[in-house]
Amino acid sequence: MNQYTNRVLEGLKARNAHESEYLQAATEIMDSIAPVFDKHPEYEKNGLLERFVEPERIVMFRVPWVDDEGKAQVNRGFRVQYNSAIGPYKGGLRLHPSVNLSILKFLGFEQVLKNSLTGLPIGGGKGGSDFDPKGKSDREVMAFCQSFMTELYRHIGADVDVPAGDIGTGAREIGYLYGQYKRITGLYEGVLTGKGLTYGGSLARTQATGYGLCYFVKNMVEANGKKIEGATIVVSGSGNVAIYANEKISQMGGKVVAMSDSNGYIYDANGIKLDVVKQIKEVERGRIKEYAARVPGSEYHEGCKGIWTVKCDIALPCATQNELDEAGAKALVANGCFAVGEGANMPSTLEATNLFLKNGVLFAPGKAANAGGVATSALEMSQNSMRLHWTFDEVDEKLKGIMTGIFEKCAAAAKEYGDQPTNYVVGANIAGFLKVAEAMMAQGNV
Ligand code: NDP
Repeated sequence: MNQYTNRVLEGLKARNAHESEYLQAATEIMDSIAPVFDKHPEYEKNGLLERFVEPERIVMFRVPWVDDEGKAQVNRGFRVQYNSAIGPYKGGLRLHPSVNLSILKFLGFEQVLKNSLTGLPIGGGKGGSDFDPKGKSDREVMAFCQSFMTELYRHIGADVDVPAGDIGTGAREIGYLYGQYKRITGLYEGVLTGKGLTYGGSLARTQATGYGLCYFVKNMVEANGKKIEGATIVVSGSGNVAIYANEKISQMGGKVVAMSDSNGYIYDANGIKLDVVKQIKEVERGRIKEYAARVPGSEYHEGCKGIWTVKCDIALPCATQNELDEAGAKALVANGCFAVGEGANMPSTLEATNLFLKNGVLFAPGKAANAGGVATSALEMSQNSMRLHWTFDEVDEKLKGIMTGIFEKCAAAAKEYGDQPTNYVVGANIAGFLKVAEAMMAQGNV
């Protein structure tokens, strides 16, 4: 780190001492982008970094709703509008009891760089609530979503801020949110992405993050003389990203032997049967444990962290932040894992990431590797603006091209600025940062 990045990071630590996830993301980013400032002294003169680390706006609000027993409930809603230098704010809405400002600031910060890497005109934001959709009836979820949008609608718009799904926010929630936005504003516009196909959604959006992750990992391993075909794969999580990462990596010739949820993991030496997982998770909204009861020869293990002890060539953490710690990373390295692709946002702790890099494990950081979701969301915005609907293959082809482009940008920046040409963490952070920095400089001190 140089003096400038160090000073800004120390300032952040002093002012946000209790926001551990945000400081974790900021530390990684500052560490990576430090070499840029030696080449660009004008950034420091213009206080660019001080502005870059600070969200443009944060909205926090009360979300009252009534449960099925007729009892009033209150949750907290958030929208972090981080940076709009290169386009309208764009980023998902997370619905999970753990949601707080630190988590949403870390996600928003990462989103700024991720969206820049896609090459598309989208700024960065993130939002959500500590509401837990798990175990709620459809009516309760609808009541919550309508109340949430009754405040959020005044802060968003097709050219202002375009939220999307994330953990806990799937097609059902996006539908309820969209209906309420339309009802209040009277506007039929592309204000949310991840919409259903009957009202403006894009084909391939559901698959995009998982598929995009596999396209990135394929580029990365092949650039380093390895291949996916014949590899044994572990995928954590069993939500949207995990399911479609499994689907695509299997089509590429990999064999997925383990998946998980927040209670535990399943192991199936014959290769996970994805249709069974889809039935349990997408249709029944059940627990991954049920897989072992339905598929003879498979096993269920209590506790989700044990999944990293399963021997594999490639690991794809696709569940949540900090799910892969140093102990998990050590187990993967000891078992000969040669590549890690982050489907989730910041699933590896700083210690785990450093351990992979030190041991020569090819490491695809989430902000680059999982950018296929937001890139396809931006394609959904384009289709909405043009009143057009592209085919699945058209969208998938564009996604493939975007992921290859992201990999090339990361590799080029790592080579130019880093001391390790395969350090794609440095590459992603620098490539993402430079475009936003140039746009901010051009727009003056705002
Ligand atoms: P989902 O809500 O669809 O799925 C999350 C999955 O992770 C669930 O299976 C959940 O299990 C599981 N999970 C949660 N915590 C843990 C844990 N500690 N260990 C193991 N499994 C766990 O979310 P998504 O698939 O959409 O998102 C997953 C990650 O990908 C998040 O980090 C998200 O920010 C990121 N992401 C998502 C994008 C998208 O397009 N959806 C785009 C880019 C990034 P359970 O059912 O028990 O909660």
